[in-house]
Amino acid sequence: MNSIAYMEQADRDLLHTYNRYGIILNDGGGVYLYDTDGNKYLDFAAGIGVCALGYGNKEYNQALKDQIDALIHTSNLYYNLPVIKAAERLKKASGMDRVFFTNSGAEAVEGAIKAAKKYAYTRDGHAGHEIIAMNHSFHGRSLGALSVTGNPHYQEAFAPLLEGIRFAGFNQLDSVEALVNDKTCAVLFETIQGEGGIYPAEKEFMEGVAKLCRERDILLILDEIQCGMGRSGSMFAWQQYGIKPDIMTAAKALGGGVPVGAFLMTERVAKRSLAPGDHGTTYGGNPLAGAAVLKTLELMERDCITDHVQEISKYLWAALEKLKEKYDCITDHRGMGLIQGLQMTVPAGEISKRALKEGVLLITAGSDVLRFLPPLVIEEKHVDEMISVLDRVLEG
Ligand SMILES: *Cc1c(COP(=O)(O)O)cnc(C)c1O
Repeated sequence: MNSIAYMEQADRDLLHTYNRYGIILNDGGGVYLYDTDGNKYLDFAAGIGVCALGYGNKEYNQALKDQIDALIHTSNLYYNLPVIKAAERLKKASGMDRVFFTNSGAEAVEGAIKAAKKYAYTRDGHAGHEIIAMNHSFHGRSLGALSVTGNPHYQEAFAPLLEGIRFAGFNQLDSVEALVNDKTCAVLFETIQGEGGIYPAEKEFMEGVAKLCRERDILLILDEIQCGMGRSGSMFAWQQYGIKPDIMTAAKALGGGVPVGAFLMTERVAKRSLAPGDHGTTYGGNPLAGAAVLKTLELMERDCITDHVQEISKYLWAALEKLKEKYDCITDHRGMGLIQGLQMTVPAGEISKRALKEGVLLITAGSDVLRFLPPLVIEEKHVDEMISVLDRVLEG
């Protein structure tokens, strides 16, 4: 059967919730992917920010193979070594005190919401608390995560969602302040908004919200699912702001490709938050995911990935600035580290499709932002290759 026939089969059999690009990816090496017809693609999407180490990393793959041979699943009724070691390493990388492993980003957000609600419940002796989230945010598709996702288009058909969620303007401190009341238990946002169009939190906003939270015993929850794990140039983007969240989420690159997420909190929060019986998962923190997290963090630290991201992201930044100067259809350039976006006056989806035909995987964030989310191991020559393709595509 040829690839077209397989794609037609997929469109018959799989629920149609994605409008996919018309290729079947089959294997990868370094920062390149290959489809079933043997076409080669330079990857500037990293499976939506997941494949931070690129493809075919021998040490990472070997660690997973070894773990598969040893043990894949135990349930959380028993301890397992990979997850114990992964938690230690993740705590060190984040400076947080307690970790709960999940299977996805959305589940990490769900856990963070529950942790914040339980904290306020323990403190006040009653439930009914509110959470302030941001317009244009994205936190996942499960009903709790969707409830804090500030995109009416995603929410509309699924009402009623969680009660007590209020939406503020991102980077607008006064709009957060205006929503705070005695019921507020948490303020939640992405340190760098990803799906919403690549908007980093401004320093004054971050500092202002952190101060507000401290003064009112409101928990600051930062979603680092897309911008975390070295992508911003520090292990977690909030580490560049001189503040610390009470709860944070991670996923996407956390396992280097294996599905795994986590929510983490400080000891102060943990002491008054989720207790035995309050939360659980069958798969979360299984040995295979643990081994993936452990190896991903080990390799990132050994290879000083954040130093590399700081260097190479400057190179990417400068190259994209040049394109912005050259083309009127590029109106803004935003981001931090290897999460950057170009705001366009032309449909970003069309640019993305044409880039794919030219052998570069580039994705969008909304309808008018071209998103650059490459594996963290890209080098200057890969940036040059992507830029020359994008230049050609923009030329028309
Ligand atoms: C992708 C993403 C999520 C959801 O993660 P899933 O693994 O798709 O559930 C949540 N928050 C942010 C910031 C994301 O980018």
